[in-house]
Amino acid sequence: VRIETLCTGDELLTGLTADTNSRLFQTLVLERLGLTVRRSTVVGDVREDLIEVMHTLAARCDAVLVSGGLGPTTDDLTAECAATAAGVPLVESAEALAHLIARFARRGLELTPNNRRQALVPQGAEVVLNQEGSAPMFVLRLGACRFFFVPGVPREYRHLVELQVLPRLAALLAQRGETPVVRVLRLLKTVGLPESHLDARIRPLLAKYPGVTFGYRTHAPENHLKLLAHGATEAEARALLAQAEAECRPLLGAHLFGVDQETLPEVVNQALRTAGQTVSTVESCTGGLVGAALTTPAGASDVYPGGAITYASALKTQLAQVPPELIAQHTVVSAQVAEAMAAGIRRALHTTFGVATTGYAGPTGGDAVNPLGTVFVAVAREGRVVSERHLFIGDRERVRAFTTHAALDLLRRTQLET
Ligand code: AMP
Ligand code: MG
Repeated sequence: VRIETLCTGDELLTGLTADTNSRLFQTLVLERLGLTVRRSTVVGDVREDLIEVMHTLAARCDAVLVSGGLGPTTDDLTAECAATAAGVPLVESAEALAHLIARFARRGLELTPNNRRQALVPQGAEVVLNQEGSAPMFVLRLGACRFFFVPGVPREYRHLVELQVLPRLAALLAQRGETPVVRVLRLLKTVGLPESHLDARIRPLLAKYPGVTFGYRTHAPENHLKLLAHGATEAEARALLAQAEAECRPLLGAHLFGVDQETLPEVVNQALRTAGQTVSTVESCTGGLVGAALTTPAGASDVYPGGAITYASALKTQLAQVPPELIAQHTVVSAQVAEAMAAGIRRALHTTFGVATTGYAGPTGGDAVNPLGTVFVAVAREGRVVSERHLFIGDRERVRAFTTHAALDLLRRTQLET
C-alpha cells in the first residue's frame, strides 16, 4: 500500500508553523502498521495548487492523508478543492451540521454563516464526526485512491488519526492481503558512555535479535540506545522488546539512567523521593542551572528545599562555610573547594546530599593546570564527599549545560550507592 501525506496552509510555507502533523503520522503509521510514508507534500492555501496536487496524488497512491484547510475562514479551501478534483458538488452534511450546532450551543454561541461552511463536504464523501473540534473529517475516493481529510489543529489531528484513520488503513492492508507489522519502541538513555563503547557493548545482541532494530542517537552529553521491535501483533512486538531490553540493561549497568521520555532531573527527583532523601545545591559556574534542573519536574519541593549561588569567593565562605585558606591554597576551581562547598551547603541546609559546581565556563579564565572548560562537581553525603573533574569543550553555554548534567549524574550515582 502506497501512502503519502498532503499538508495545506500558508503558515507551513512561511516558516511560521512546522509541519509536525506529518511527522506524527509517519511515526504512528510506521509503529502501528509497519508502513513508510512514501512522500510528504506541503502546499499553501492556493486553489489551483491544491487541486493539481490532489490529481497527482490520486494517480499514484492508494491512500493520502490530507491535513488542514477545513476551518471556517476564507483561506480554508480543502473541501471545496476536493469536490472540484472529484468532479462533485459540495453538499451540506446533516450530521456535521447537527454536531456543529450542538457544539456551539454548549458554549452558548450562535452559529455564523461561515461556521456553517464547516458542514460542507464533497458529495459522496464519508463523514466522520470530530469529537475534539467542529470541522468533521471526511473520506473521499478520487479514482482508486482513498483520501482522508483531517483538520490541521494538532490535537484534533492526532485524535482522528489514531481513532479513525489508522483502523481504516489497517483494514485496507488486510483487504490487500498485506500483513501489518507492528513496531514498538524503547529508548534506553545512558550517560558517561561514548557511542562507540555503547555500540561495542550491545553488538553481541544484534544477531540474537533479528526482530529488533538497534539504533543509536547522541543527545549530548547523553547517548540513547533505540530498540525497535517488530511483530505481527502488538503483544508479540512488546514481548520481544521486553526480552531485548532485559538483556541490554546489565550491559549498560549504572550508565543507564532512564527510558523513553524520562529526563535526568526527573529520575534523580524520583529516586530521592522514593528514598525519602533531600538535596541542596551550591553553584558557582552554573549560576543556578542545577537548581533550575532540579525544580523542572513538578513537586520538587519535597526533595529540594533550595540552594545558593555563590559566584564570588566570599559567598562560598559565607553561605557554604568554605574556609578562605582552602580557597587561597587551591584556588576556587579545585576538587578541594568543590568538596568543601558541597559539604558546607549540606550542613547549612540539613539535607541528605549537597551538590556543588565550580569551574571555568569561559570565554576567558583557566590556567596551565586547569584550562578553560575545566569544572569540578562534588556531592556530599553523611561522612563522605566525592568529586569529579571534567574538561568540557565548547562555548560557555555548552560548558555550563554539561556541568549541570555532570552534577546531576554524580548525584544520581552517589544516591544509587546509599
Ligand atoms: P487549518 O485546519 O488549516 O485551519 O489549521 C488549523 C491550525 O492547525 C493552523 O493554524 C496551524 O497552527 C495548525 N496546523 C495546520 N497544519 C499543521 C501541520 N501540518 N502541522 C502542525 N500544525 C498544523
Ligand atoms: Mg489552514
